[in-house]
Amino acid sequence: MKNICSRCHEIGRGCCGRKAADLSEQIGIFYPEVKDIATKMNITEADFIIKDTVPDEFRLSMREAVHPIFDSIYYQNIRFKLKTVNDFCVFLSDTGCTLPNDIRPVYCRIYPFFPSKQGDKYITVLSSHECLAQNKSTNSWTIVNEHFGYSHEYLQVLFAKMNILAEMHIQYLT
Ligand code: SF4
Ligand code: SF4
Repeated sequence: MKNICSRCHEIGRGCCGRKAADLSEQIGIFYPEVKDIATKMNITEADFIIKDTVPDEFRLSMREAVHPIFDSIYYQNIRFKLKTVNDFCVFLSDTGCTLPNDIRPVYCRIYPFFPSKQGDKYITVLSSHECLAQNKSTNSWTIVNEHFGYSHEYLQVLFAKMNILAEMHIQYLT
C-alpha cells in the first residue's frame, strides 16, 4: 500500500504543491539551505529560489500563531521561496522529491509537524485541510504521526537543526 504522502500527491494535494502567488502557501527556507542545495545540485540559486518580502503583519502573525522562529525565517522580512512549476515545487518529480534527504529543507522534512510555541520539546501539527494525514477532529501529533512513524527524538534533532540554521541564516543576512 502506498504511503500517505504518495496518495496525497496522487490526488493533486500535498505540501509540495503551492501556488506561487499565494502569500500564505509558502513558508520559505533558510539561506544556508539555499546555498547547500545550489552547491550540491550544481545549480544556481535563481534556478530554484524566488526571493521576496513579506509584510510585517504576516511575519508577526506567524510568530504569534505558530512559533517565534518566524522572526528568523523572515529576518528583515525577506523570504526565500522554492520556485514552482505548474503550482508544484520545482524539485518535485513523479516519484517524489528529487533532492537527497541530507539537503532537503528541514521544513519539508518535519512537515506537518513543527516545534510548539510552548517550547521546542513539544510538537505541534501545522493544521492544513490539504494534508491527507490530518484528521480534522483531532490534530494530536501522536495521532497524525501514526501515518509517519517518526520518533520524538528524530523530530527533536530536526528542530535543533532548524534553530542552528536560523542562527546561520541571520549571520548570512546581517
Ligand atoms: S524540496 Fe522536495 S520536499 Fe520540499 S517542497 Fe520541494 S519537492 Fe517537496
Ligand atoms: S505531509 Fe500531509 S500534505 Fe504533505 S504530502 Fe504528506 S499527507 Fe500530503
